[in-house]
Amino acid sequence: FLRSQAARESNARSYPRRIPIAIGEAEGIHVKDMDGKVYYDCLSGAGTLALGHNHPVVVAAIKSMLDNKRPLHTLDLTTPLKEQFVDELFASLPEEFAKNARIQFCGPTGGDAIEAAIKLVKTATGRRSILSFQGGYHGSTHAAMSLSGTLGQKEKINGLVPDVHFLPYPYAYRCPFGKGGEETHRISSAYIEKLLSDPESGIVSPCGMILEAVQGEGGSIPAPVEWLREMRRITQERDIPLIIDEVQTGLGRTGKMFAFEHAGIIPDVLVLSKAIGGSLPLSVVIYHQKYDVWKPGAHIGTFRGNQLAMAAGLATLQYIKENEIPSKVEQLGSRLASHLLALKQDVGYIGDVRGRGLMIGVEVVNIREKPDAIGTFPAYPQLASRIQRECLERGLILEVGGRHSAVMRFLPPLIVTEQQIDEIACIFSEAVHAACT
Ligand code: PMP
Repeated sequence: FLRSQAARESNARSYPRRIPIAIGEAEGIHVKDMDGKVYYDCLSGAGTLALGHNHPVVVAAIKSMLDNKRPLHTLDLTTPLKEQFVDELFASLPEEFAKNARIQFCGPTGGDAIEAAIKLVKTATGRRSILSFQGGYHGSTHAAMSLSGTLGQKEKINGLVPDVHFLPYPYAYRCPFGKGGEETHRISSAYIEKLLSDPESGIVSPCGMILEAVQGEGGSIPAPVEWLREMRRITQERDIPLIIDEVQTGLGRTGKMFAFEHAGIIPDVLVLSKAIGGSLPLSVVIYHQKYDVWKPGAHIGTFRGNQLAMAAGLATLQYIKENEIPSKVEQLGSRLASHLLALKQDVGYIGDVRGRGLMIGVEVVNIREKPDAIGTFPAYPQLASRIQRECLERGLILEVGGRHSAVMRFLPPLIVTEQQIDEIACIFSEAVHAACT
């Protein structure tokens, strides 16, 4: 079964290469393969499944749509559900942002919403260059990929979206300035401010700056809140729209409804997808009304605002709020992080444990090679692959990410229990020990 599928699918397939299982059933935090083996799913559709698989409130919302002859597709025509969904989503935003905000429904994926955000700020400012960050990931569509750090995807493409300037992200463990610690974010923001003040840098008037408050695919790297505040100040002072990509971090994943809230800042443009569709495809851009410069029809597309996804998304949003999921995520995240930090004490190959809420990365390093000037060892992607395989054998699905494919990424559904966190950490520990021997 798997072999015939692999033969038919494009060579670009990614996850099935590392996780060669066919999934038959799924519930909560678990998936079951075709042989009946059950796994903890800490990949969660790359962070999509906030409430896990087939959560009863999501299932009930979808069923009710089908049982009550609700429209499944209406282009962007209004429905009572759409109004309710937007009300709920706006009520989840900081009031200061929501009161002046506009929403644009985009195509089904995060990448679609990134494309819309870039078009929007280009139209609003009339400028062309874009500021992005090393290690960032924004999608696989043309502009989104051009803004992303993923070199492998861009390798053979002749002609990306031009004028993208990659700035240093405050990745303290592999500090782009060879310093580490607090120095990383301080130098990063000072350097960025200097570039934006120096006409010779060629980037003084960009159409926008796009960033993730916690880099996801780049290796679960949280930006310090001070740095985020600096990026807000620097962009505000220069009238540069700040686009925050919360495709992966949004809806409670980091311990707040939105990751920018940790820094107490407000973006000009917010990009959301993944969890807002409650496991179904949906993406939106929410922005300050001063950027609402599009003429009618300036941004269209057939599958904008899928009704079933809005029903599932509304149920998810309500559940997250009613059950105070973000504050629970904060506690569960600390619990998982403390297990992983304890393991780091034991195993030299674990170089770094970091993250925010239930978005945690464990960077695997090769301690047999020479460390760099700040004592950081090179990434060890081969060991990361071995750990991933050992995890899979023991019933734990984990993503490997990061610029050097050496970060084990924990993205469990937000409804994970303390006991499950302990079990996941225990399986991971066994897998790490097995892979390191
Ligand atoms: N932005 C971020 C931060 C993401 O993590 C992703 C997907 N991993 C995207 C954008 C792109 O979303 P999609 O794959 O749905 O196009």
